[in-house]
Amino acid sequence: MLAIRGGKVVGPAGSFDADVFVEGERIAAVGVDLPITVEREIDAAGCYVLPGCIDPHTHMDMPFGDTHTCDDFTSGSIAAAFGGTTCHVDFCMQQPGDTPKQSLERWFQKLEDGPPLIDVGFHLAVTDLSDPSSLAELRDLPGQGVTSFKLFMAYRGSFMVEDDVMFQTMEVAAEHGALTMVHAENGHVIDVLVKRALAEGKTGTEYHGATRPPVTESEATARAIAIAGLAGAPLYVVHVSCHEALKAVEDGLAAGARVRAETCTHYFVTEEADLARPDFEGGKYIFTPPPRDPAEHEALWEGVGRGSLCVVSSDHAPFRWADQKSLGRDDFSAIPNGAPGIEERLLAVHQLGVVEGRITLERMVELLAAEPARLFGLYPRKGVIAPGSDADLVVFDPEAERVLGVDNLHSKVDYTLFEGFGVKGLPRDVLVRGTEVISDGRLVGKPGHGRFVERGPTSLAA
Ligand SMILES: [Zn+2]
Repeated sequence: MLAIRGGKVVGPAGSFDADVFVEGERIAAVGVDLPITVEREIDAAGCYVLPGCIDPHTHMDMPFGDTHTCDDFTSGSIAAAFGGTTCHVDFCMQQPGDTPKQSLERWFQKLEDGPPLIDVGFHLAVTDLSDPSSLAELRDLPGQGVTSFKLFMAYRGSFMVEDDVMFQTMEVAAEHGALTMVHAENGHVIDVLVKRALAEGKTGTEYHGATRPPVTESEATARAIAIAGLAGAPLYVVHVSCHEALKAVEDGLAAGARVRAETCTHYFVTEEADLARPDFEGGKYIFTPPPRDPAEHEALWEGVGRGSLCVVSSDHAPFRWADQKSLGRDDFSAIPNGAPGIEERLLAVHQLGVVEGRITLERMVELLAAEPARLFGLYPRKGVIAPGSDADLVVFDPEAERVLGVDNLHSKVDYTLFEGFGVKGLPRDVLVRGTEVISDGRLVGKPGHGRFVERGPTSLAA
C-alpha cells in the first residue's frame, strides 16, 4: 500500500485535503486520518493531487503525405507523462486499401514497435467503406474497446470522406454506443481556394489562414450536426477554433442535438498573424483549422465558461520544423499539418485558466480528465480520484515555475508553440496505474508500462 499524504485532492465536485491510498493499480481509499498501514508514502503537502489527465486527441507516428509525425508511442507518451497526462486516445488512420480491422492491426504493431509509458486507446479514423467487409468490421469495433470513429470533412484526396460515408459511419455508431468525431472543415471549398492561391503565386505560409476562412469550419460543423441528427448518432466536434463554429455547436445544443465540442490548447495563444512570421517561422503554425483572429482567444474561453466547449485536447501532431515542415517551403499546401502540444496542455491550461482566473481548478479537471473520460468510455475507471478507479495520479506543485521552451520539453519535435511562455504550476510526480513514471520531475518509469485500454460506450450513447 502506498499513501499520497496531505495534498489537496481535486475532483469535479470540489477539492479537499486528504490522503490517497493506492493498492496495486487501483485507488483503495481517499480520506483523512484513515487507519491504514502503508509501506510507502509520497508527501504531497502544499501540492494538488489531480486525476491523471486524459488527452483524447493525439497523432503518434501518423502518416501524412510522404512523412509521419516525429513522435512514436514511446517518445510521445514520455512527453505526455511529463505534462501530467496518463492516458491518451490516438487516431488509428484507415489507410488506402485497408479495411478497419487491417488498420487497427497496423496501429497495434506501432504499440509494439514504440511501447508506451502511459495508457493508450484508439479511435478509428474511417476513410473508406468501399470494401464490402468494412461496415461489418466497423460494427465489431465497439466490442473490442474501440468506441469512437473519426471522420475528416477536409483533406480532399487523402483523409476526406463524402457525406455518404459519414452518414453510414454515424449510423453504425448510433447502433453500437460509439461516438463519432468530426474534423469539420469544408474540404471541397478549401481545395478550390488553395489551388487558386497557388495558381496566383501565393505560396507562402501566410496564405494558409486565408484559404480556410471561418465559414468553411462553421458550415461543416452545422452539416455534421445535421447529418448526425439524421443518423441518431452522438457527435463530438474536434478542434473548434472560432466563434462561428462554436455558434453552430451552440445552435445544435439549443435544438436538442447530442453534440459536444473541444478546443485545443494552441487556439488560446496563436493567431493568424503568426503564419506570416518571416524566415519560414510561419511554418510552425500550419495546423488546421488555422490560427484565427486574436479576439477568438477570449471567445473560446467564453465557450468554456458556457460549457459548450467541454474538453481541451492537444491535437498533438508533431512535425519537425527543420526537415518536415520545410517540405513545403515553396508551397504552403505541402507543409505537413499539425503542431506539438501533449506536454504543454495541462501547464498552459492551468496557467491561462486557473492562475489567470478564467476557470476554477475543478473545472480544469473536468476539461482535461473527467469529461474526456466520460465521453470516451473510460469513466469512472479513469478521470476521477475515487476508490476502485485506476491510480492515475498527478502530484502538482502550484508554486513551481518554468519558462517553457523546446529545451525543457520532451517530444522529439524541434519547436514548441509555447516558447518563452511562463507557467506557475508543474507536475512533480505522475503515477500510471499505481506506478510512478515521473518522480520529482524526473523520468523513472519504463516504456512498455502503458497498455492498450478497451473503452466502453460513450456517456452520450442513447
Ligand atoms: Zn488531429
